[in-house]
Amino acid sequence: MSRFWSDIVHRLTPYVPGEQPALAHPIKLNTNENPYPPSPRVVEAIRRELGDEGETLRKYPDPTARALRATVAAHHGLRIEQVFAGNGSDEVLAHVFQALLKHDKPIRFPDITYSFYPVYAQLYGVAFDAIPLDDAFGIDVDDYRAPSGGVLLPNPNAPTGRALRLAEIEALLKANPDSPVVIDEAYVDFGAESAVKLIDRYPNMLVVQTVSKARSLAGMRVGFAFGDAALIEALTRVKDSFNSYPLDRLAQAAAIAAYEDDAWFQESCAKVVASRERLADKLKALGFEIVPSAANFVFARHPAHDAATLAASLKEKEIFVRHFKLPRIDQHLRISIGTDAECDALIDALRALIAA
Ligand SMILES: *Cc1c(COP(=O)(O)O)cnc(C)c1O
Repeated sequence: MSRFWSDIVHRLTPYVPGEQPALAHPIKLNTNENPYPPSPRVVEAIRRELGDEGETLRKYPDPTARALRATVAAHHGLRIEQVFAGNGSDEVLAHVFQALLKHDKPIRFPDITYSFYPVYAQLYGVAFDAIPLDDAFGIDVDDYRAPSGGVLLPNPNAPTGRALRLAEIEALLKANPDSPVVIDEAYVDFGAESAVKLIDRYPNMLVVQTVSKARSLAGMRVGFAFGDAALIEALTRVKDSFNSYPLDRLAQAAAIAAYEDDAWFQESCAKVVASRERLADKLKALGFEIVPSAANFVFARHPAHDAATLAASLKEKEIFVRHFKLPRIDQHLRISIGTDAECDALIDALRALIAA
């Protein structure tokens, strides 16, 4: 603390990202990274962009990320004006709070959800109502019918992994024609249906996506928003008042190549989904209760073992899972899907801990 801090900094409770351990070979199942590398075409594209001497780095990148936005627009059947690109979807979400969710009325999001949302709300002075999930950690879209400053939901939700059907998203949009509705699709490719196809019919909807999870590029920091051109313009106005060059050259080139290799993307998603079902079965055999997941993680609790103790004991074995010390979920672990070998190492460690 310091007397030089601004009032807002005094009052902030920052987001705490999952640990990135400085170990040679940790089993890292705590931040929902993809266990598989990105397409080899991504590595080639970065090399090509860099050139032999790194000559290109002398110059600023394209501030509008036009080639990347055109590639992603074509991929989703959108117009380039319907695509915004930012430095990870976290940055995109930050702009969304400032550009579209800051109104007189409080916004609504679930009580159990991505824990960055309340942090942005605090940073940007956006009031919110946290709407309780049901006892099975489901979202009832009927709870989002009252007039509000906007609605924000991840689909699938995090850290539960539960997905809403597209019909439910559409019901939510129909019930909120006068407020922005933001669907955070960070995990959509692992088993939910994207709302992108509804964009032309709902000018109040914004869909946020990322290359961090399904496209194995968490290290590049690239995220998107898709929606009506007027919503995208709002984000661009904030971006150009904050940082004109949020995406560096290598990130733009890498993300384009990732979208161009759709076969690689499909295959790596299919592998993660198969490993998820395999891991869920093995956890159930050890007595864990599992929330049905449409994401690249499972949310699990053991009725006879304290979650924080399990997480700490796993960490001693250099196996990292995520535990949230939050109301209603402090007995759960969020376990990212690793390779089958990593999942097996986790199962072996848990079996030993539970037997002890
Ligand atoms: C991981 C995650 C993000 C952030 O993704 P980045 O693009 O890496 O910033 C956004 N929303 C949810 C729900 C996430 O889990």
